[in-house]
Amino acid sequence: MTLHSKTFATNSPHPTAPIGIFGGTFDPVHFGHLRPALELLEQLPLAEIRFIPCRQPPHRQVPAASPGQRLAMLELAIAGEPRFFADDRELLRPGPSYMVDTLASLRAEQGSVPLCLILGTDAFRGLPKWHRWAELTELAHLLVMKRPGEPLPQEGELKHFLESRCICDPAQLAQQPRGLILPLEVTQLEISATRIRTLIGAGRSARYLLPDAVWDDIQQKRLYSAPLFMPEK
Ligand code: ATP
Repeated sequence: MTLHSKTFATNSPHPTAPIGIFGGTFDPVHFGHLRPALELLEQLPLAEIRFIPCRQPPHRQVPAASPGQRLAMLELAIAGEPRFFADDRELLRPGPSYMVDTLASLRAEQGSVPLCLILGTDAFRGLPKWHRWAELTELAHLLVMKRPGEPLPQEGELKHFLESRCICDPAQLAQQPRGLILPLEVTQLEISATRIRTLIGAGRSARYLLPDAVWDDIQQKRLYSAPLFMPEK
């Protein structure tokens, strides 16, 4: 397996425009990731979005596909969007993939450029389980995308964390490098990687839940597949 790093943000017309950071397992990447990310590019003053697949998620089981397979699917999925990039830094870093370490490495590279960590509401609600989670807003803004069946927290420390940093005006993201939280409405797509893996494992098709190129790659490599899975014609 050869993983490679890309050079980023050297050709942006707005060198200080915020950079979106989309972390996840991407096992596999699907339209529930891609469509909301595109809408963020359209709604917000972002220079680009970097998809950062994690090597070893700290709070969940080992991904079904290998790091190289997940990166390959991601690269196929984003090939047509010039402001989407795959960033393999977590795949190259040994040990658990802590987002606080990833943001620290991006911050060291980017100086005072605003960084915006993109999370679905499910991930945001799970934030207190993340390693050094309260430090995330010392390194980046948070963009919280609504996800079906996952409301924003209505009580407890996370409600306070949200309310004390919450903004409504996206223009504020460009005015400081970190520290704000912007909740966002995006097209609600009830798609999850778990559902896709379950479908494929049951011998069913995942077509139209993810890009055709990714579906073709999954079939070709027989990823997530039960022994009796029959590829489509
Ligand atoms: P799994 O089902 O394996 O947990 P997933 O579909 O949730 O996977 P991840 O790669 O774990 O995908 O998610 C990465 C990020 O994308 C998380 O912040 C998650 O909240 C967000 N996300 C995933 N699917 C959606 C969706 N359908 N709508 C909005 N956000 C999503």
